[in-house]
Amino acid sequence: MANRKNLMYYIRMNNLNADIEKIEAAFDFAEESHIGQYRKSGEDYIIHPVEVTKILIDMKMDTDTVIAGILHDLVEDTFITIADIKYNFGEETAKLVDGVTKLSNLPENKQRQPENIRKMIVSMAQDVRVVILKLADRLHNMRTLKHMQPEKQKRIAEETLTIFAPIAHRLGMAKIKWELEDLSFLYINPEKYKEIMQLVNAKREEREEYTNNLIDSINNEMKVYEIYGEVVGRPKHFYSIYKKMEEYNKQFEELYDLIALRVIVEEKNDCYNVLGIIHNLWKPIQKRFKDYIAMPKSNGYQSIHTTILGPNNQFVEIQIRTREMHYIAEEGIAAHWEYKEKIKNSKANTKRIYSWLKKILELQTETESSEEFIESVTGDLIEEEVFVFSPAGDVIELPLGATPLDFAFHIHTDLGYRCVGAKVNGKIVPLGYQLENSDKIEIITAKNSKGPSKDWIKMVATSSAKSKIKKWFKEQEFENKISEGRIIVEKELLKLGFKFKKADECEELVQYAEKQSFPNFNEFLFNIGIGKITLNGFIQKIKDDLKNVIFDEKGIIDKINQTKKIEKKKNDYGIIIGGIDNIAIRFAKCCTPLPGDDIGGYVTSGKGVVIHRKDCNNYIFLSGNDKNKAIDVKWEENIQNKNKYNYNFIITVINRLGILSEILQLISEHKININSINSQEFIDNGDKKINIKITVEINNKEQYERLIKNIEKIKDVIIIKRI
Ligand code: MN
Repeated sequence: MANRKNLMYYIRMNNLNADIEKIEAAFDFAEESHIGQYRKSGEDYIIHPVEVTKILIDMKMDTDTVIAGILHDLVEDTFITIADIKYNFGEETAKLVDGVTKLSNLPENKQRQPENIRKMIVSMAQDVRVVILKLADRLHNMRTLKHMQPEKQKRIAEETLTIFAPIAHRLGMAKIKWELEDLSFLYINPEKYKEIMQLVNAKREEREEYTNNLIDSINNEMKVYEIYGEVVGRPKHFYSIYKKMEEYNKQFEELYDLIALRVIVEEKNDCYNVLGIIHNLWKPIQKRFKDYIAMPKSNGYQSIHTTILGPNNQFVEIQIRTREMHYIAEEGIAAHWEYKEKIKNSKANTKRIYSWLKKILELQTETESSEEFIESVTGDLIEEEVFVFSPAGDVIELPLGATPLDFAFHIHTDLGYRCVGAKVNGKIVPLGYQLENSDKIEIITAKNSKGPSKDWIKMVATSSAKSKIKKWFKEQEFENKISEGRIIVEKELLKLGFKFKKADECEELVQYAEKQSFPNFNEFLFNIGIGKITLNGFIQKIKDDLKNVIFDEKGIIDKINQTKKIEKKKNDYGIIIGGIDNIAIRFAKCCTPLPGDDIGGYVTSGKGVVIHRKDCNNYIFLSGNDKNKAIDVKWEENIQNKNKYNYNFIITVINRLGILSEILQLISEHKININSINSQEFIDNGDKKINIKITVEINNKEQYERLIKNIEKIKDVIIIKRI
C-alpha cells in the first residue's frame, strides 16, 4: 500500500496531466505480478518500478510512458507477456515495454559495446521514449548500486559511463547525464572521487561567500534595469572536474571555472541585457564567450556562456538563459512532452533533435560497422574544441573535427603546403585523421612535395586552412595559364620562323611585352593564356619588319609561309608535333584517335597537347573557337606496335542469354585487353536490346578493323559504332 500511495502522491504533487485510474490499475497489475520478488537491498521488487516511474514523472512524461515505467520489468522478470500488457493497457504501452525489454538483453562483453549503442540509438530513433525509459531505469539502478557485488558495480558503472551518459547528453538531458556520470565515477574510481569531493568541500564556505557577493552585485544591477530573474550558484559535478583535471593535466586550484553562476530570466532579450550588465561589471575573457542562443547545439541546448575575471582575479563561468531554455537544457528531449502544446518556440528545438534522430536512422542503414556508426553519432558529443600539442610541447587549440592539416596550417602556411604526412603520438596517421584532446602532432614535410591536393579542402575544419589551400590552387592556376600562354606564343614564334629554346629568349617579343607595360614577362604570358590579349599586334609588327629584312643574324631564318611545315620530332606516342619539344601529350577520351586516323592537336591548360581525331565534334568546336590553340600534328610514318591506344565503341545487340560472353570471348581471342565495359538495356519497338560500351587497348587501326569484322559475325549483333 505504501508504494501505491507514494506513487500517486508523487503524481499529484507534480501536477501530472495523466490518466490516474489507468496508472493505478497498472500499479496493481505490476505489484501483484512482482509479488515474492525482492531487490538486492531486500526490499519488495515493486519499489524499483515505482522509483523509475517517479523519475519519468519528474520529466513530465505522458501516460503511456508512465505506465510503461511501472510495467517495465514484468516481461523480463515474470510470466506476464507483451500480449498481456497490450490487452490490458493498449498497444502504445506494450510497444514501449517491448522496446525496453529488448534493450535489457544487451550482451555484456566489452567487444559488443558498439553493437549495444547501435541498438540503443536505433530504438531511440524509432521511439525515443523507449530510451528515456531505459535511462530512468538505469538511473535508479545506479542510485542503488551499493547493494551489488563490487565486480558487478564496476561493470555496470563502466557501461553507464560509456553508453548511457553519452546518450543522455545527446538527448540534451543534462540532469540525468550528470547524475549518471558522478555515480559511475564513484564506483569506477572511488579514491579519486573522494579526493575531489574533499577538494570541493575544503574551501566551500570561502567559495560560497565569494559567489554570494557576485550574485548580489548582479541582482542589484538587474534591479536598476528592471530585469526580473534569478541568479544562482551552479554546482560543479565531480566527474566533470575530474575530467578537466585529467584532460588538461591541471591541479584542482588551476581549474578556472570552479565558481559558476547561472542567470535565468524571462525573455530572450533579457539574456543579452544581462550579458551587457555582467560584462560591464567585470572584464570578460574573450575566448570563452559563446552564444548558443543564436547558434543552438545540435541537441537543442541554448544558453549564453561567458567567463569573467571577478574580484581577486578569480575566473567565474556564467550561463545566461531563459526559463524555457533552462528547462530544455536540464531535461532535453523529455521537455518535449511537457512543452509540446504550451510553447511553440520549443518546437524548433524538438525539431532539431528529431532531425538528428532521422539522420541516425538513415545512417544506420548506410554504415556497415558498428564502430563507424557510433563514431559518426557520438562525434560531437563531448566538446567544441580539442587541445593538442606541438612537438615542442606547446598547446594548440583547434576546433573539434580539426585534422593534422589544420594543425600544420595553423603553425605556418608553408608547413601546410609542404605537408605530406603526419604522426600523432608517434604513429603515422592519414591526413584526414580527426585530432583528439592531448594528441601530440608532428608534421612530415617533403622538399619536393607537390603541394595541396583538392580533397584537402574537405579534410580541414578551420576556415583559415581552407582559404590557404584555395589560395594555393589559385596561384597554381596562374602558373598553368602562364605555360598555356607560353605554348601559344612559342607556336606563333615558330610560324614566324624564329629559332629559339624558350619564349623568354626571343628579344623582340620581350621588348614587345615591355612596351605593353606588363609588370613582367610572366604576366604577359598569363594574359595570352587566358585570352585577354593576342599576339596579332606583334605578328603584324614582325611581318612589317620582315618586309625590310629578309635574312637576319638574329635568327629570322625563313618566311612566314614556311611555318606550316612540320618538323620531325619523335616521342613515345608515335606523334609528331610541329616544332615543339618536350611537350606533354594526351589522347582525347572523346574520340580516342588511332594510328591511321586524321588527327589534330589542341593546347590545353596545364596538360600539354591533347590529340583528337580531326572529325571529332569536340575538336571541330574547340579549334574553331580558338584557332591559336589548334596545332598541327601527325602520326609517325612507321609507327611501331609497342604503343597501345584506347579505343571506344558501342555494340548494339538483341538481348539474349550468353551474347555478352560470346563477345568477350571473341575479344580475348584477338589478344586484346579490355579496359572498361558498360551495358545498358533499352526497349526498341518492343524488343529488348542492349548497348554495350567497350574500351579496348589496341595497337593500330587494322587490328581494330579485324576485330570489328568478327564481332559483326556474331548472331544478334545489330550494329557497331565507334564513339
Ligand atoms: Mn528495471
